[in-house]
Amino acid sequence: MVLCFSEESITISDLIEYLFCPRFTYFIHCLRIPQREERLIKVQKGRALHKSKEKTNLGYPRKRYGVTDKLTGIYLCSKNHRIRGIMDEVLFLDDGSVAPLDYKFAKYCNHVFKTHKYQSALYGLMITEHFNRPVNRGYLCYSRSGNKIVEIPFNEKLFQQAKDIITNIFFIIQREEFPETTGNKKRCIDCCYRRICPH
Ligand code: SF4
Repeated sequence: MVLCFSEESITISDLIEYLFCPRFTYFIHCLRIPQREERLIKVQKGRALHKSKEKTNLGYPRKRYGVTDKLTGIYLCSKNHRIRGIMDEVLFLDDGSVAPLDYKFAKYCNHVFKTHKYQSALYGLMITEHFNRPVNRGYLCYSRSGNKIVEIPFNEKLFQQAKDIITNIFFIIQREEFPETTGNKKRCIDCCYRRICPH
């Protein structure tokens, strides 16, 4: 289901790459150097999971989470926030609110990674723009932990942090300025840009 299209927007994948290392944004968008194939394998596995879930997860435990209806595999873009992406599920809840649900091809390790939190918050912002209903939480489903569902409470601080990240990504793309690293040297070890990046 396609609700709109914008060429002046970035994708949720851009967000994930930026959070791994802001230099990914520079290499991909400013220098047009794509990532190596092997780094995309995990992403491809995740996509395959999404496709299978669209077909097989119709028995979602709706009652437990107050789900009255849902949309699956929905493409949204936000003109206000300049971001676009495909949402695994948009849940309509019995308290009148709407929530994104995102499948993760991962185990749940007793905490939610910031990347997943910001991703869910951006889905929340896109839902707000399109459905004009309260959006106060998101859900993650961890496929490698027995489809464990974890709730992410949304608040203004989280929404603002997510919006600031979008601003930073556009800042790099438009000004073509080589950004600082995250400072996490471990990420450089297997990085596909390590041969050309002065890390
Ligand atoms: S080598 Fe390190 S600093 Fe450079 S892009 Fe990769 S992760 Fe970032």
